[in-house]
Amino acid sequence: MQLYKSTINKIEETLKFLGIDGGVLEKLKKPQKILEFKVSAGGKKYKGWRVQYNNARGPFKGGIRFHPGVNLDEMKALAVWMALKAAVMNIPLGGAKGGIAVDPFKLSQKELESLSRGYIKAIYKNIGPWKDIPAPDVNTNAQIMAWMMDEYSKITDNFSPAVITGKPVEIGGSYGRENATGVGGAFVLIDFLKKNYFCDKFEKGKNKCPIRLMGDHSDFSKLTVAIQGFGNVGSSIAQALYKEGFKITAISDVQGGIRSEHGFNIFEVIDCVKKTGTVSGCYCVGNMCEAQGNYKVISNKDLLESDVDILIPAALENQITKENAGKIKAKIILEMANGPINPEADEILKKRGVLMIPDILANAGGIVVSYFEWMQNLQGDQWEEGAVLSKLHKLMAGSLADVIKIVEKYNTDMRTAAYILAIERISRAMNLRGGF
Ligand code: GLU
Repeated sequence: MQLYKSTINKIEETLKFLGIDGGVLEKLKKPQKILEFKVSAGGKKYKGWRVQYNNARGPFKGGIRFHPGVNLDEMKALAVWMALKAAVMNIPLGGAKGGIAVDPFKLSQKELESLSRGYIKAIYKNIGPWKDIPAPDVNTNAQIMAWMMDEYSKITDNFSPAVITGKPVEIGGSYGRENATGVGGAFVLIDFLKKNYFCDKFEKGKNKCPIRLMGDHSDFSKLTVAIQGFGNVGSSIAQALYKEGFKITAISDVQGGIRSEHGFNIFEVIDCVKKTGTVSGCYCVGNMCEAQGNYKVISNKDLLESDVDILIPAALENQITKENAGKIKAKIILEMANGPINPEADEILKKRGVLMIPDILANAGGIVVSYFEWMQNLQGDQWEEGAVLSKLHKLMAGSLADVIKIVEKYNTDMRTAAYILAIERISRAMNLRGGF
């Protein structure tokens, strides 16, 4: 089933469960606006989109993706998830998403800049600090946000840092934004484990105890982790968990992966990837060759089926389907990608007792620090990194606790609970405003 359709089905189920009036569903079935256009770079034209799903709770917010697989159905689903994420985190933003169907690695820097500026020329009338605030997503970064902010400021003849987030810190970016998605995911996972949710608390519910921390609740050295994806999100969560003592035994990117039972030194892997461009060539870095004889080169499929405690998909959607859901060995899946598990796989994994911490909670750290960046821009301020991280921690832990409360109240799984929390908040805003 298509991504968008299956997301709307889940929203429909949630509305029915909550007994919320059908009019809301009709309005949540379709994005409020879809912009479809072409952007040129290097003599070629590429298809681009901006989908504005819902702004009942605040201006539209969501990243821009440059990837050959980008299509309208994907953009629509990603836009819904942004609205849900903002609502789960209880931050005053709506949901949108944009992208261009392009392989940015085939473009020169100049072409990439003209593509980025072209994207803004196509949508500038529909974005703005109180309208729609884009941000980075797959294959876009702070430099691209800088060009986009510059283009918007030029066209509108107004310096407008608050129109886009994920900018470099020198021009209104927030400290902590670059690693925010990964760090936020680590906060959620660690808080979940430390509180022994579903083990000491609510043991008799639908969710089985996935991992029980014994003794010192901050000793994670026995917990093994596999991470799919080593872009911004995958590499940041890898660093955050490595610093906390987790044993990261498998990592992959688009070109393949590496495994070592002894666990990788993530900083050595990052240094190596800077030189080689891929983790698949980095099994033998630093002193790992001598110290870790047991390494292996693996495929992405192997990575997902790794014998680990925690699996972290941090790449693209639809990675775990009915084909491989039965082979997953991890006890917890922390969804750092958007939509990595499709609905059929979700059912299989639930039956098998695998605990899934859903994307709209786990990977919301990016939009949260984007929200902080937007606030700093509107106030002409810049906060210290420590302040950003402590606010991020507070919000992530607070929303995890909110989701767990709903799990307990309705004896349901974490994904359903996160949907309930988000849909309740969005529909309440729609009803209060009345104009939807
Ligand atoms: N692209 C990120 C996401 O999918 C962040 C979006 C934002 O900061 O607005 O959550």
